[in-house]
Amino acid sequence: MYLLSIVYGPPLSGKSTFASKMNNINHISVGKICRHESSQQSFRGLYLKHAILYNWFIPSQILLPLVLNNNILSQNQENVLDGIPKYSHEINPLKKLCKNNKVNLKTLHYLNPPLDILLNRLKTRRTCNLCYKSSTNTNLCSCGGLMITREEDSMTYFLDRYSRFQNHSAIILEKLSSFMEIKTYVD
Ligand SMILES: [Zn+2]
Repeated sequence: MYLLSIVYGPPLSGKSTFASKMNNINHISVGKICRHESSQQSFRGLYLKHAILYNWFIPSQILLPLVLNNNILSQNQENVLDGIPKYSHEINPLKKLCKNNKVNLKTLHYLNPPLDILLNRLKTRRTCNLCYKSSTNTNLCSCGGLMITREEDSMTYFLDRYSRFQNHSAIILEKLSSFMEIKTYVD
């Protein structure tokens, strides 16, 4: 049996940072897993490479089994999912997969800082091109990688992701609150 919590919020709300500050958890970063998979010369890898590049919707049948499987889920620690759901229609497949794999859904950590904070972060955000760690650091990453502004952090891309968040968040929160405990954070 597995225990699964979710970190949810708009782009740049600090989901990865939040998860990395939680103690004794298994952080499941959907972005990291997808980027790793997109470097593989498989059909799924090539598909994901283009999906990330062009901001495509990635179907639940591809995404969910990639990030929630026995190799990734931990039995000994609470698992914390970061990056799903983004769309309201992902909730039912997520629920179904959890039921079939004996995954108990626990807490939804909802990060909801004001838009001006998100826009401020957007201006200063850099991401390492090797380990994908994000910070405001403009020098080299501690791993030796370059801190670059990702395509995903351009204003156009951000506004696109933000409006998607706004279109789906009310339904996602409503659906998830019927079987998960919701904790909200506003800064
Ligand atoms: Zn790095």
